[in-house]
Amino acid sequence: MDDLILRGGIIAGAQQDLAIHQGRIRHIAPRIFTPARTTLDIAAKLVLPGFIESHIHPDKAFIADRTSGLRRGGPTPQALVAELKKKFTAEDIYERARRVVLCAVRHGCTAMRAHVEIDACVELRGVAALQRLQAECAGVLDLQLIAFAQEGIFHDDVTQGLLREGLQMGLPILGGCPYMDQDQRRHIDWCFDTAEAAGVPLDFHADSGDDPSRLTCDYIAEQTIARGMQGRVTLGHLCTLDLLEPDHRARVIDRMRQAGIHVISLPATEMHVKGRADKHTWRGVTRIEELRAAGVNVSISTNNVVNPFTPYGHPDLLRQALVTAMAAHLGNLDQMAWLLDLITVNPAKAIGLKDYGLAEGCGADLVVLDAVDPAQAITEQAEKLWVLKAGRIVARSTRTSELFMTVEAPTR
Ligand SMILES: [Zn+2]
Repeated sequence: MDDLILRGGIIAGAQQDLAIHQGRIRHIAPRIFTPARTTLDIAAKLVLPGFIESHIHPDKAFIADRTSGLRRGGPTPQALVAELKKKFTAEDIYERARRVVLCAVRHGCTAMRAHVEIDACVELRGVAALQRLQAECAGVLDLQLIAFAQEGIFHDDVTQGLLREGLQMGLPILGGCPYMDQDQRRHIDWCFDTAEAAGVPLDFHADSGDDPSRLTCDYIAEQTIARGMQGRVTLGHLCTLDLLEPDHRARVIDRMRQAGIHVISLPATEMHVKGRADKHTWRGVTRIEELRAAGVNVSISTNNVVNPFTPYGHPDLLRQALVTAMAAHLGNLDQMAWLLDLITVNPAKAIGLKDYGLAEGCGADLVVLDAVDPAQAITEQAEKLWVLKAGRIVARSTRTSELFMTVEAPTR
């Protein structure tokens, strides 16, 4: 007997039943007649695999009220947060990160890759907090943790050692941030050397600025190929790519494709932070459609939640899809039809999830939306009616409205 049957949802464009057995999708068919312990009627509601936050910072979430926001000529968001981090306790980080996870699950997220800052300001307090959270939310959300060098690695003599310690504590990914050091190539080389020695993949914050002479994604692609790490390197931001001349950009994109680099665009943060000093406001968002068309695996993610980088950030990937449609000229119906791949199958590939997707045998990590197709889901910011993790219902949401108007029946 199956544990659960979802009845009549829209799967791959057609109304189908979906049977779940022992946490996995056992069968998908127009009608399933075998018995189940529980049946959910989701007639004509869109079923998607669970949303994936592939790039997010729970350790510095919900701190916008502790500092001023960005002002013309004022400190960078990095500088504002570095100051606050010194006072973070493990308990404080844990409480704020937990709030992020709960919001994310409510909004359909079933797996998350989070950057954990490790440096002289916060040392390893974030690692302790996030590992505690990771253990507590197992079964509800898969939480991957990155040992992340937000402050650069050449400003003091402790950060490199702390990052290695983070990896030894079990963090399975190293996160570089070359633009925080003057010598970006030296930073990148250190990350590759350290990742190779530890046998872990890399996830860089790269090319966040507007100076094409500081471009690094081409060098990172080169190193990825030279060291045989194809498919194991991820780049967040990539704003600078947007500013290259078309021919140059095409060459760089092709190099990244050859290197199997995963790209994660962070449109809400780019729109808030970038282009403030310019005569013309620059959106700062990378070339999502060009990357995708060239065969690069592209995702989008929330990045920041209620902090100086994005004071209105919220871990709701359907919201990010709408922001992306607006920010990256991706709002036509044919584009919105694939936009939700950027918060589902593409990030699942980027973060290396196994058995993910809407197919028999995959883990039953699912979200059911109050919409018939992706365009309606994005446009109406549809409610996430049900969220399932390994076949278990972990969130249910409803939205009610009352309209006080009478509509006369047309007279014949
Ligand atoms: Zn980030």
